[in-house]
Amino acid sequence: MRVLVTGGAGFIGANLCRLLVTLPEVESVTVLDDLSSGDAANVADVGINLVRGSILDREVLAELADGATHVIHLAARPSVPRSVKDPVTSHAVNATGTLFVLEACRRAGPGRMPHVILASSSSVYGDCPEPHKHEDLPTRPLSPYGASKLATEAYALAYAGSYGLPILPFRFFNVYGPLQPAGHAYAAVIPAFVSAALKGRAVTIYGDGEQVRDFTYVGTVARVLADAAVRRVTSTTPLNLAFGTRVSLLHLKNALETVLGRPVEAEFLSARAGDIRESQASSQLLLRRFPSVRPVPLDEGLRLTVTWFEKTQGATTH
Ligand code: NAD
Repeated sequence: MRVLVTGGAGFIGANLCRLLVTLPEVESVTVLDDLSSGDAANVADVGINLVRGSILDREVLAELADGATHVIHLAARPSVPRSVKDPVTSHAVNATGTLFVLEACRRAGPGRMPHVILASSSSVYGDCPEPHKHEDLPTRPLSPYGASKLATEAYALAYAGSYGLPILPFRFFNVYGPLQPAGHAYAAVIPAFVSAALKGRAVTIYGDGEQVRDFTYVGTVARVLADAAVRRVTSTTPLNLAFGTRVSLLHLKNALETVLGRPVEAEFLSARAGDIRESQASSQLLLRRFPSVRPVPLDEGLRLTVTWFEKTQGATTH
């Protein structure tokens, strides 16, 4: 396998690359990343080939896709609040960028087209009132980010239908773990909580803290992606990549207190535009296609995440 990972210097991508290079099936891993939110340090000394460039550069894409047997497309502008602030850039990278990736893959020609895995998001369900999100539900994005991820899926399906491109779109829910950055305005909730708590600061909760999320440890996501690539699993139904865990932010704060062995303060601010109240996956379809996957439980994943933050932040839990 010669694997091209777009966005491979980012959080999920770098965890995936670290796994891919250990697999006997994998001959080479190339990363295309513009380092806009990723970091070259995430993949330094991992044994991959890092090409610094954009998925919006069609020449670079054509060159890299040409030699690839597998493309795992993770590059994106991945934040809901950033998309609310600047929808056009989110669209350009997430929708048009995906179209360019698919087009580069199709141009390899029949019989040479790589297997393509794509990252969509639970945000495509939007304000769909059903709390348990299964893949047959209608999609109603609430944010420009959600709309751009729906376009990611739609273009992938169109390329499978029109050109026979072998595709597998996944809907990630809330992925967390080592290499996920905190310390910026758009940080995801777990790194923001862990980083604040380790510095002895209050964690910030937008809204009442009763909003529910389905957290997936990044090691579990990387294992599913790698397995899907090795077995060339395809699906024209986008698959949820989450396991139906139902964790409110208040529960998350408690779980963190258990891991740290001390209380964590919370500061409550008003709810943010585009934020979804309940996000919990049905994992039936996923488990049918990946029956042997065993997700890392929240307490263990949190412990691994805290350990990583302690090492990189140099903070202590006391
Ligand atoms: P990330 O920001 O760490 O990774 C995205 C990577 O894409 C970064 O390395 C960034 O530099 C790169 N990138 C951005 N624009 C690019 C461009 N034009 N050309 C090349 N590279 C570019 O985010 P992540 O959490 O690792 O997300 C990976 C994928 O998973 C994204 O598609 C995201 O939308 C999706 N996703 C993530 C989550 C989550 O909980 N982390 C949830 C749902 C979906």
